[in-house]
Amino acid sequence: SVVVVGSVNLDHVVRAPRIPGPGETILGTDVAEHPGGKGANQAVGAGRSGAETVFVGALGDDAAAARLLSELRGAGVRTRTRTASVPTGTAWITVGDDGENVIIVVPGANASITALTDPEREIVASAKILLMQQEIPESSMVDAARTSQGLVLLNAAPTREVSPDLLVLLDVLIVNEHEAADLNGAPAPAPELITRLLEQVPAVVLTLGAEGSLIAVRGSEPVAIPAHRVRAVDTTGAGDAFCGALAAELDRSDPAGDLLERLTAAARFATSVSALAVQRPGAASGIPTRDEVLKAYPA
Ligand code: ADP
Repeated sequence: SVVVVGSVNLDHVVRAPRIPGPGETILGTDVAEHPGGKGANQAVGAGRSGAETVFVGALGDDAAAARLLSELRGAGVRTRTRTASVPTGTAWITVGDDGENVIIVVPGANASITALTDPEREIVASAKILLMQQEIPESSMVDAARTSQGLVLLNAAPTREVSPDLLVLLDVLIVNEHEAADLNGAPAPAPELITRLLEQVPAVVLTLGAEGSLIAVRGSEPVAIPAHRVRAVDTTGAGDAFCGALAAELDRSDPAGDLLERLTAAARFATSVSALAVQRPGAASGIPTRDEVLKAYPA
């Protein structure tokens, strides 16, 4: 099974003709709420991809919490969440008609997970795949990674420093080009980024948007996986769909098998999942089911 230890947010999206400047008031045209948070989105990705998935996280004691839990469960995700004494995490997003956006994330309950409880550790210990992102305190991620008996995957998004304590516990690092450059300390060509990252972790999945992804395991030549050629309408959450699907497909593979082969097969499936996701609006809501993926892109 897959366990995701991570964030869950309610996203509030305002549409406006443009992004207002400091001190300015303008009229918006539309407002909507969407389930979000990288942890929850990736759990939905794993759940829709057919993996038995548990989401471990924290919510407030509020209406947003009930709504987000039902979204997760609707995607077939089991939830093991705690109720914090602060509100559910929120993101406040303004999107201009030119597609520009500004985003404020208020972590709320997500910030309260500083260590795991014993029942949470039991869930982590029994899962084949642990998948994490960087929207909860790192101390709990180190705790989860130490507890895991399976593969430990980190999607290092959003960018923040990853401590050596966490890095040494990782099996697979998943990053896009910006995150890879940040971890490297400077932008560099993809092969160089991969070489640098492989000095710190055994395996790297570097995603390159419409260019696809590179799969690299220490000691082997990287494998390039092209993206499908599609007309993208909303690439928000492409990475989340990809990470969730990758975890789900790894969960189906033989733990005794070759890591590069397992990762490559999983990334091919994740590439198909994200190709469908970018053709639909919404982050989590655009993630397809396994059946939809196999129908659109037969293996
Ligand atoms: P992030 O959302 O984290 O920046 P990417 O943009 O690299 O992640 O996208 C992750 C994966 O989603 C890519 O490796 C690719 O397979 C798929 N993808 C993203 N954008 C497109 C696109 N425009 N067309 C087809 N596939 C895409």
